[in-house]
Amino acid sequence: MTPRPTYDYIIAGAGCAGLSLAVHMIRSGHATGRKILLLDHDAKRSNDRTWCFWETKPGLFEDIVYKSWQSLLFRAPGVTRSLSIEPYTYKLIRGVDFYRYCFELIDREPGMEFRQARITACHNREDGAEVALDDGTLLTAGLVFNSLYSLPSPDTRDIRLLQHFRGWLIETDTDAFNPEQATLMDFRTGQDAGATFFYVMPFSERQALVEYTLFSPALLDEKDYHGALETYIGSILGVGQYRILEKEAGAIPMTNHRFPRGSGRIRNIGTAGGQTKSSSGYTFRFIQKEVAAIVKSLEGSGHPFPPRQHGKRFTFYDNVLLSVLNQRRMPGHALFSRLFEKNRPQDIMRFLDNESSLTGELKIIATLPTMPFLRAAAWTVASS
Ligand SMILES: Cc1cc2nc3c(=O)[nH]c(=O)nc-3n(C[C@H](O)[C@H](O)[C@H](O)COP(=O)(O)OP(=O)(O)OC[C@H]3O[C@@H](n4cnc5c(N)ncnc54)[C@H](O)[C@@H]3O)c2cc1C
Repeated sequence: MTPRPTYDYIIAGAGCAGLSLAVHMIRSGHATGRKILLLDHDAKRSNDRTWCFWETKPGLFEDIVYKSWQSLLFRAPGVTRSLSIEPYTYKLIRGVDFYRYCFELIDREPGMEFRQARITACHNREDGAEVALDDGTLLTAGLVFNSLYSLPSPDTRDIRLLQHFRGWLIETDTDAFNPEQATLMDFRTGQDAGATFFYVMPFSERQALVEYTLFSPALLDEKDYHGALETYIGSILGVGQYRILEKEAGAIPMTNHRFPRGSGRIRNIGTAGGQTKSSSGYTFRFIQKEVAAIVKSLEGSGHPFPPRQHGKRFTFYDNVLLSVLNQRRMPGHALFSRLFEKNRPQDIMRFLDNESSLTGELKIIATLPTMPFLRAAAWTVASS
C-alpha cells in the first residue's frame, strides 16, 4: 500500500501565481488545518519585477499598491491621447513588496511552509502527485499546483513572439514628470524589430520607471536596449541629468501555444497554466481571477478545475492579433493608435480583460482595418 501523501498541497514555484494562490487560501480560510508546502529555487527577496494592471475595486493586494493612476497617456508619431480611465485604476505593485507581504502571511500560517529547493519534475500518481527535487528527494501531496513551464519546440503553426523589455527607475534633480499620469504606450521610437514602445510610470515629479518594450521574436543585444532607453529619456522626454536607481529586465511569451491546465492531481497555474494573455502579456489580474476560482472550486467540490474563466472567442481574438503583429500585417504603432483613437479606454480595458460582451467586441473590431485582420483571422482558422 502506498503511504498517504505528506502534504495536502504542494505549490511548485513561489512566484506571482504560487504566492497569490497561497494568499487566497489563507485569506479565505481554506489553508486552515491543511499542510501546504511552497517550493522555489529562489529565495524571492529581490525586486525582480513590477506588476502593472487595472481594476475597478480594491484588490487582495491593495495594501501594497505602490502607485496608482486614473489618467493614462497614449502617444505615437502624430498622435497624443490623454485617457481618463475611471472607474478603472491603473496600479503598480513592486515585486519586493509583493514577496514580503505574501511571506509574512505564509510565515504566520501554521500549516504552511516554504522550502528553497530546485524542482526537477512533477508526476501524477494513484492517490495524488509527487514532486522530485534535484537532491533526489521525492515529496508527495494530494494536489500539486505547478507554475513551472518550458515551451515545446515550435511547429509551423506556432507564433513565438516575445514581449521583451528593459526598464530603468530613474531619478532627476529637477522636476521632470507628472506623477498624476502614466504613459501606457509611447511609440515614438524605431519600429524596425516589430511593435516597439516605451512606457513611463512616474512615482513622483523626480522619479519614474521608464521601460523599453518590444514585441518581436528575438531578444536584442544589451547595448541596444540601453541605447534606446538613453535616447528616449534624453531626446523624447528631454531629461538631461538623471541617476539610474534600479534596472528591470524580462521576457514574456506571446504565443498561440496552448498552455495546458494540467490533469489528474496536477494543476498548472500562472503563465504555465495559460494565464498570460498572449496578445498583451498582461498576467497579474488573470492570475488573481484564476486562483480565486480555484480556491472556490476546492471549497465547493474539492477539485481544482473550475469552469474556464472566459469564452474561447477571446483566444481567437488573441491569436488574430498575434498573427497581425507576427506577420506584420499592420505596423504595431498604427494598430494601437487606431485602437486608442477610435475607442473609449474603458472599452479597450474590458476587452483586454476578456470581460467584454460580444456587442462591445464587435464595436471594437469595426474600428480596425478590415483586410489585415481578415487575413489574420483566415490564417488563425486555417492553422488551428
Ligand atoms: C520583469 C517582468 C515584468 C512583468 N510585468 C508585468 C506587468 O506589469 N503586468 C502583468 O500583468 N504581468 C507582468 N509580467 C508577466 C507576469 O505577470 C509575470 O511573469 C508573473 O510573475 C507570472 O507569474 P508566474 O507565477 O506564472 O511565474 P513566476 O512569477 O515567474 O513564478 C514562477 C516561479 O517558479 C520558480 N521556478 C522556476 N523553475 C523552478 C525550478 N526548477 N525549481 C523551483 N522553482 C522554480 C521561479 O523562481 C519563480 O519564482 C511581467 C513579467 C516579467 C518577467
